[in-house]
Amino acid sequence: RMNQSNRMLLPDGTSLPRIGQGTWNMGDDNSRREEEIAALRLGVELGMDLIDTAEMYGDGRSELLVGEAIQGIRDQVFLVSKVYPHNAGNEHLIRSCEESLKRLNTDHLDLYLLHWRGDIPLEETVVGMEKLVSQGKIARWGVSNFDVDDMKELLGIAGGTHCATNQILYHLGSRGIETELLPWQRSHKIPVMAYSPLAQAGSLRKGVIESEVVQEIASAHQATPLQIMLAWTMREEDVISIPKASSRKHVIENAAAGLITLSNDEIWKLDEAFPIPSWKVPLDMI
Ligand code: NDP
Repeated sequence: RMNQSNRMLLPDGTSLPRIGQGTWNMGDDNSRREEEIAALRLGVELGMDLIDTAEMYGDGRSELLVGEAIQGIRDQVFLVSKVYPHNAGNEHLIRSCEESLKRLNTDHLDLYLLHWRGDIPLEETVVGMEKLVSQGKIARWGVSNFDVDDMKELLGIAGGTHCATNQILYHLGSRGIETELLPWQRSHKIPVMAYSPLAQAGSLRKGVIESEVVQEIASAHQATPLQIMLAWTMREEDVISIPKASSRKHVIENAAAGLITLSNDEIWKLDEAFPIPSWKVPLDMI
């Protein structure tokens, strides 16, 4: 089970695990439903008690699955969902949130994110988010896929400083945020929530897990290369990563990754093999 050193505090004192659970593509296949629910519940038991979903995922199917998985343990879970940009204004925002709550079978979200920036003015979204907070439907709100300029704009508008996190793509094979966005967020005490920390299952992941350095470090820790990718995200205390695992086996491995501490020498070797870009690059997104 992950332990206290695997947790961080939000500025408001809320304790969060530094490895949570993503749920994109979960709930799509009925034959896997029981295993997926068991995996999420086991993840919570093992200390990965933050669950991330979105109204977009499977057109609500992910939220329905999560709703089922958290029955009886709702108060142990930090529940995150996201609103489509085109739903992020006025009454649409309120309605989207209420519909998410219904699917999730709960009366509040711990965090509600704008999934990415769309055409609705940020001011309108912030007003709506603050209204949801005052109605008790969400405890706090944040954004996702915002680059530095978007973040600066957000913090410049009334209420914008209440933004609790920016959920962005971040893994060993994609370190662009370390040039500007991550340091900027750090200086404003806005933690990064790292999505696709295992680089999904594509060619970028292949590049990481087939690297000799990663393989060497993995065998030194009797771990898999993917566990090293997760352990790497934990070298920083203010990054929360949200791997998606739909089997108990993967959940157990991911929680165990939280117990791996990379040495400074190993971190340095990984820096050399997967360097931070030398200049600001546009935010990577999926
Ligand atoms: P991840 O990088 O988390 O990779 C998920 C893949 O890795 C799945 O195929 C999963 O397989 C596999 N996997 C997980 N654990 C292991 C393990 N221990 N060993 C081997 N394979 C493993 O990709 P995601 O894109 O899903 O990102 C994670 C979450 O981030 C999403 O689910 C979503 O909640 C969020 N996200 C947010 C975005 C945004 O725009 N805000 C965009 C993208 C993601 P299996 O299912 O079989 O366990």
